[in-house]
Order: sequence, then C-alpha cells, then structure tokens
Amino acid sequence: MSGSTTGRAAELAANLARVEERITRACVTAGRAREDVTLVVVTKTYPADDVRLLAGLGVRQVAENRDQEAAPKADACADLPLTWHFVGQLQTNKARSVVRYADFVHSVDRPRLVGALSSAAEREGRRVGCLLQVALDRETGAAGRRGGVAPDAVGELADEVAAAPGLWLAGVMTVAPLSGPYAGKPGAAFERLGEIATALRANHPAATMVSAGMSADLEEAVAAGATHVRIGSAVLGVRPGLR
Ligand SMILES: *Cc1c(COP(=O)(O)O)cnc(C)c1O
Repeated sequence: MSGSTTGRAAELAANLARVEERITRACVTAGRAREDVTLVVVTKTYPADDVRLLAGLGVRQVAENRDQEAAPKADACADLPLTWHFVGQLQTNKARSVVRYADFVHSVDRPRLVGALSSAAEREGRRVGCLLQVALDRETGAAGRRGGVAPDAVGELADEVAAAPGLWLAGVMTVAPLSGPYAGKPGAAFERLGEIATALRANHPAATMVSAGMSADLEEAVAAGATHVRIGSAVLGVRPGLR
C-alpha cells in the first residue's frame, strides 16, 4: 500500500473504532445486545478506494444515496463481500439500476416506486428488501419534503410491498425531521418510529429492520430500538457541502 493509502486506512480504522465504541456504549445504556444493532457505513461522496479499505477493516454493510454515484462504485467493488443499502430519495426511472446492486432500499415511500422496484427486481431476477421511509414531520397526508410516507399510510404501503413480486418487506426507516413536532427531538422521533415498527410487525412479522440514527444521533436511535444505524461522516469524515 502507498503511504497515503496506509494513512487513510489508519484514519478510517480509528474512526470506526470510535463509532463502534459509541454503539457499544449506547447498547449497554439501553440494555441491548451489541449484535442487535448493525452498523451501516454511508460512503456517499467518498471513492470506491475508501469502500475497499472499509471492507478490509471488516465493514460488510455500506449505503449510498444517489444512483449515479452508487452504481459505478458498487461495480468497482463487486469483488468485495458487501451488502449494499440504498438510502436516498429514489426516482422511478432509477429503479432498474438500483436493484442491480442494492440488497436493501430504505427509501420506499410511494406506490409508484413499489411498482417500479418490483418490475425491475423481477426483470433482474433479484429479491430486494424494502424499508418504508416514514416522514415524521407529518402524521397524515402526502410525503414530506425529504421524502417518506406519512405514518397513517404505512399500513397500506406495507401491504403493497408485501404483495409485490421481487420485493420483500424488511422494515421501516426514518431521518430525524428538521421541521414539525419532532424537530430537534431525535429521541422522540425514533420512539415514534419504534411504535410504527411494532404496529407494522403485527401484520408483517418478518419486517424487523428499524433503520434510524446517523452520526449525530446514533445514541438516541439505539435507545429507541433501532436495528440499523446509518453512519457517514463519523467514519469517513465531514463531507464538503450538504449532501
Ligand atoms: C448521508 C446520510 C446518512 C449519514 O449521515 P451522517 O450524518 O454523515 O452520518 C444517513 N442516512 C441518510 C439517508 C443519508 O443520506
């Protein structure tokens, strides 16, 4: 390895260790087993070389939020034992590309997208795990600005995913809202997501994934029962600009 590669590997290793320690401490505080929480490293804006270094450090779950960036990166890392998560807002015309590499899509929020993912997955001979992205900045009505289905529409959308060929219903996801009653209260937001997840499992017992928590609020997410935390900047560094 070149000097700079070794330096980057050491930096990523140190960051990973810090994040691992935070997750472990949060699990202890919450009385949860460490293995009940999966770290998903969000590699958006960082190159495939970083993904490769992370894989060498034991990372197995990675996430991306834009297909234009994710598709070539996943391609460049096809030899690595990685599970790919798609966590960004998704246009229906990108569904076919995304299902080629994504094992999980965390941002399913409307019937049209379910239809597009389903036909794409069928055509590609894939079975894609779908998480419903819940918009907690509105309890009813259409999706919020950052995407997501309103809590009162989760049940209906879940039934559509469960009935869609090529897809399976894996769980729910949220991003701590910037507006509405949960603004600045990630803990309360993630507790609400936990309630929604529990209600969902009454009809869909296999939908056990609860994707919540990012670099700034992973402790609140673990306390509220998240099974998957999506961590970008705390592992890879602060991204230039708002992505
Ligand atoms: C970028 C991103 C993350 C990671 O955010 P950090 O604050 O960098 O940890 C998590 N989830 C989604 C949906 C993202 O787009």
